[in-house]
Amino acid sequence: MSESKPQVSRRDFLKKMASGSAVAATATAAPGMAISAARPKRYAMVIDTRRCIGCQACSVACKTENDVPLGETRSWVEYIEKGEFPNVRRSFLPRLCNQCEKPQCVAVCPTGATYKRQEDGIVVVDSDVCIGCKYCIQACPYGMRYINPKTGTADKCDFCLHRVQNGIVPSCVNTCQGRARIFGDLNDPDSEVSKLIATNATTVLRPEMGTEPMVYYIDADHADQRDAAKQGIYIRIETNRRQKERV
Ligand code: SF4
Ligand code: SF4
Repeated sequence: MSESKPQVSRRDFLKKMASGSAVAATATAAPGMAISAARPKRYAMVIDTRRCIGCQACSVACKTENDVPLGETRSWVEYIEKGEFPNVRRSFLPRLCNQCEKPQCVAVCPTGATYKRQEDGIVVVDSDVCIGCKYCIQACPYGMRYINPKTGTADKCDFCLHRVQNGIVPSCVNTCQGRARIFGDLNDPDSEVSKLIATNATTVLRPEMGTEPMVYYIDADHADQRDAAKQGIYIRIETNRRQKERV
């Protein structure tokens, strides 16, 4: 299976920066945005929030599987409390990188370190090429990225690429006892994800951003603190430690 490679190495980029041609480097670093129609797979996740019990087993599995540094998260579950006693509802919203079809993180990366794999649509970071400039962290509308303190480079969920390449589902999917997380190939009409999307009303996070997320939710509460405040509804959202406000 071939892999779409970044077009500018970290060394080349730093050389160009030194010679004052970083803008040219940015312009030539077309980071794999054009997705071939012949791409064999288009991996996606469906999260059926009706089946999520907020146990955070997926969050723990992700941290262990990917050796995620203390204080950072690649995948987590938000707790959303809405209303006031006795009319209170708590719901759960698992979050992870959306592996967007039009990823803003990729569009801003000046070195091509972040790119979307043409063969399966997974958005990855090449830590050998990343210069830790944090442009992608600023650009992601979902707050899904962080700088890995061990490498000094950007990091995020990649659908457990090392597992998927070996035919195994992502660790969060494997761990979820309620089968709230379902992973598969949207290019296969017989896959479970394709069937779930065809037969259920689904939503994505922040569709107005035009990123076309590949993580679909069934029956999700996308409650926003600002919208709730406008309607006079009490709402409390517990998100991960790094995010001050839900995005
Ligand atoms: S493991 Fe499954 S049920 Fe538990 S929090 Fe994660 S998505 Fe929800
Ligand atoms: S969710 Fe953020 S980090 Fe993930 S692909 Fe989309 S823009 Fe990039």
